Amino acid sequence: MSPPPVENVVIIGTGCAGLTAAIYTARASLGPLVLEGPLPGGQLTTTSEVENFPGFPAGVDGFQLMQNLREQAAKFGARFEQALVTGVDFTVQPRRLMVGDRVILAKTVIIATGASPRLTGIPGEKELYGGKGVTTCATCDGAFYKQMDVAVIGGGDSAAEEALFLTRFARKVHLVHRRDTLRASKIMAARAMAHEKIQCVWDSVPVAVEGVGSGAVSGLRIKNVKTGAESVLPVKGVFVAIGHEPNTGPFAAVLDTDEGGYFKPAAGSQVRTNVPGVYVAGDCADHVYRQAITAAGMGCAAAIEAERWLAEHGG
Ligand code: NAP
Repeated sequence: MSPPPVENVVIIGTGCAGLTAAIYTARASLGPLVLEGPLPGGQLTTTSEVENFPGFPAGVDGFQLMQNLREQAAKFGARFEQALVTGVDFTVQPRRLMVGDRVILAKTVIIATGASPRLTGIPGEKELYGGKGVTTCATCDGAFYKQMDVAVIGGGDSAAEEALFLTRFARKVHLVHRRDTLRASKIMAARAMAHEKIQCVWDSVPVAVEGVGSGAVSGLRIKNVKTGAESVLPVKGVFVAIGHEPNTGPFAAVLDTDEGGYFKPAAGSQVRTNVPGVYVAGDCADHVYRQAITAAGMGCAAAIEAERWLAEHGG
């Protein structure tokens, strides 16, 4: 059997970072191979209107934005493949990426694997996750809760955004936060707190999702951290919005990561790693800004670094 071809650039991930890297490397005639994981298009495909991506004064639908980026990359020659990288060998050149029992060889690699929503770990959450009432995506599932009461857990921008989105469908939205002020940006916090359908439940942590016996959420048990009192919110849907975990997968064993598990770029760079020709971009390497536009910026920077590496080492 002949060995697999050696790719100039393999990009792992198709969120804002990966697709921007694909546009830049494709336009530089490097013919990137882009590997799509379990959530093609990344987190923006699960959001509704994106109001802060530069260039769209009227806002843009998150799914549409990602479709546009993908089309733009494909136009310049990026190739897409559904593949989950299960192992890597970065001690050799070309770099080896294991995809099941197949090997992909690459001179340069851009890892843009993003981050995934975090769960609370309370009883009932896992059992009722998916179609049974616990979810991390209001955009995906909000419409199932027409005229019902729901709870959103969290106090950041995601929680505020989810709660506001859910007001389109739900009768009442309980925003359950463990402190008495929202972490969300002022504008989002003000919008959420002013909405007549949103009721903030302060100083409260979730204790259990109820309804496991019947196979559908029937309530969210919460505990007031100041009084210790427990109560049950009679909700049919629980939307968990408490932040994200970076998807560092098989790369974390060979690339530097920080205490939060995010890729830690080499000193003096946002995207270079401790392995020459291997770059990181987007939310898997950024726990500070986590914006579509900053992820896109990192994807662009990683692409330019890969281009330069190939020019120096033979592309
Ligand atoms: P985040 O800012 O990290 O907020 C997470 C929230 O969940 C915090 O309020 C935190 O409480 C709470 N929390 C964490 N673990 C918890 C647990 N085990 N139980 C209960 N509550 C828990 O995450 P995010 O809201 O996903 O936002 C991430 C980043 O994306 C931020 O930079 C944000 O500005 C940005 N973002 C922007 C937009 C937008 O501009 N439209 C939308 C979404 C996200 P504490 O406050 O007590 O820590």
